Amino acid sequence: LTNKKFHPSPTSVSVDGWAIGPETLTIMAGPCAVETEEQLLAIAHAVKESGAQFVRGGAYKPRTSPYSFQGLEEEGLKYMQTAKKETGLRTICEVISEDAINAAVKYVDMIQIGARNMQNFQLLKEAGKSGLPVLLKRGLAATIDEWLNAAEYIIAEGNPNVVLCERGIRTFETATRNTLDISAVPVLKEKTHLPVIVDPSHATGVYSYVPPLAKAAVACGADGLMIEVHNDPAHAMSDGPQSLTFENFRELSAELQPYVSLA
Ligand code: PEP
Ligand code: MN
Repeated sequence: LTNKKFHPSPTSVSVDGWAIGPETLTIMAGPCAVETEEQLLAIAHAVKESGAQFVRGGAYKPRTSPYSFQGLEEEGLKYMQTAKKETGLRTICEVISEDAINAAVKYVDMIQIGARNMQNFQLLKEAGKSGLPVLLKRGLAATIDEWLNAAEYIIAEGNPNVVLCERGIRTFETATRNTLDISAVPVLKEKTHLPVIVDPSHATGVYSYVPPLAKAAVACGADGLMIEVHNDPAHAMSDGPQSLTFENFRELSAELQPYVSLA
């Protein structure tokens, strides 16, 4: 179902009137975690002004430590819905359980399966049944074939609306949080008809590396980007060091404008 051999032309995934695919450059931006309503609304307005079509924000956070902030859960989803009402942006949230999916369908436009759950096959099936478009991130140490098989699980449940997101993989290199596998973009473009976006924020863990890799991703054929943006990165409850300020994000968006019109 993911294989280009049986579906040669590229697929676009439609989310509330916006087509994610080769005809557009999709920008999803927002905080790692939804922290407060005020924070989310401020960020949503800022990223909208810079040209993003989606606001992202985690309400269920799959944190490495159980003692780190775990997210606002359903309350956070409600703030996402408010952000959509105020800005018109489409919304995307990560889900980590069947309960989270059942809540997400009430409040957001698209769900995300995170790297840590890429091979949570039960969750993939539930995401397939949810009827919502799904952003499927690459697992921390997943091969491209394993990743495509994960997408296959979702589509096999009757949900063809899957977008892939390269977010870096584990390597021996420690200078960046992960290593962005930029070659995944052309490899996927040859293997699958599904749209592919790139997340340089989780790939690098360092805000200053985000703009150059965002541009590299677009230059090599990515259909979009997911970028973490925060009103006050120094005090973010998660992933502050990789978050762009409003000003940084505005600059990057301006630099991407020529690609937006080419897409
Ligand atoms: C995220 O997007 O907030 C996230 C946790 O990303 P990943 O699953 O890629 O680590
Ligand atoms: Mn994050």
